[in-house]
Amino acid sequence: MQFTPAKPTIYGETLDSLTAVLTAHGHPAFRARQILEWLYKKRVGTWDEMTNLSRPLRAWLAAQFELDPTSFVLTKQSEDVTDKLLLELGDRSLIETVIIRAPQLGVGQENSRKTICISTQVGCAMGCRFCASGLEGLKRNLSAGEIVHQLIQVCRQEDSRTPRAHAELVSFDNLVVMGMGEPLHNYDAIMRALTILNAEWGLAFGARRITLSTSGLVPRIKQLADEPLGIRLAISLHGATNEVREKIMPVNKAWPLEKLLPAVREFSDKHGRMVTLEFILIEEINDSLEQAEKLRDIAYDLHAHVNLIPYNTVEGLPWKRPSLTRQEKFANILFDGGVSVTLRREKGHAIDAACGQLRLKTEKAREAAAGSPV
Ligand code: SAH
Ligand code: SF4
Repeated sequence: MQFTPAKPTIYGETLDSLTAVLTAHGHPAFRARQILEWLYKKRVGTWDEMTNLSRPLRAWLAAQFELDPTSFVLTKQSEDVTDKLLLELGDRSLIETVIIRAPQLGVGQENSRKTICISTQVGCAMGCRFCASGLEGLKRNLSAGEIVHQLIQVCRQEDSRTPRAHAELVSFDNLVVMGMGEPLHNYDAIMRALTILNAEWGLAFGARRITLSTSGLVPRIKQLADEPLGIRLAISLHGATNEVREKIMPVNKAWPLEKLLPAVREFSDKHGRMVTLEFILIEEINDSLEQAEKLRDIAYDLHAHVNLIPYNTVEGLPWKRPSLTRQEKFANILFDGGVSVTLRREKGHAIDAACGQLRLKTEKAREAAAGSPV
């Protein structure tokens, strides 16, 4: 499922593919590096700013490639902690990219750190019952260039706020693939995008500062373990037994815990680093003390870090987060069992911090304005 734009975006090209296109049309190979430098180091917004390229080459590039596959719609801010960028794609689909200025995700981060959360699909096919992104199914995959361009949009915003210490640096510290969509369901595009973001001719962003979150597509986790790109992995567990997980995550029917957990172990053995298990706490669904004990055993056994996330209410869904006392009791069972655990104190609740909610609201508003679905 893919949108085919009139022209491909240049942000989907690698050094090799761009060199190949250029040379096939009689342009010298060294132009590719010059173009990529304008895109990723200088982050220009128009072809005409690429002043060391000849006019005919700029005109040729403009005829071949789309320069801005996403356009900025609005930013929503929350207590100086989270910025959500709502972006529109060529087919008018909406996606979200989030800038988090607080230690909410991952292990051992400091206060000043900035984490960017990117989307990989419009909607999601996995149908997790608690999640806004999956409510209306999958609309389409994002292309590699659309994924990469989210970071360019973030860089442009951040570049205008905070002058860069070094012209070529990006002004964020961590990247999490945890926005809308199941990244491993759009495997080739996300791997190409991450390769571009990581490459020295791209954003030169370290693979170890990238975390990909998946609902648990086992064959793809195995494939990811064999990739040379050493990114971190997070698993959306949300249930410590098949019985509980299956009720809220249909993916558990195809890939139950007895298949998922060995694949996670294989990944962490190959990479020699801790995997994160994400566990949303939902009242009376998965917050029992038995679940905490089972989760403790799983995490201990896998030598995994556990990220407990109090549930963010989704309009139209009945789920709620447990009380703070209950959240802490749950966390303490893991902590006392010697498991590395963080309990996220969710500050973005006020601005629909869970994935997909801002987009859904805007789409509903559009539908209402147009009197029919867009
Ligand atoms: N599809 C991937 C990545 C995107 S979802 C995955 O499922 O891992 C990113 C994280 O947000 C997942 O852990 C997901 O379970 C969680 N999430 C979804 N809806 C949420 C909600 N309403 N409150 C809190 N976390 C939520
Ligand atoms: Fe998709 Fe992840 Fe939401 Fe599940 S939690 S529906 S996999 S985006």
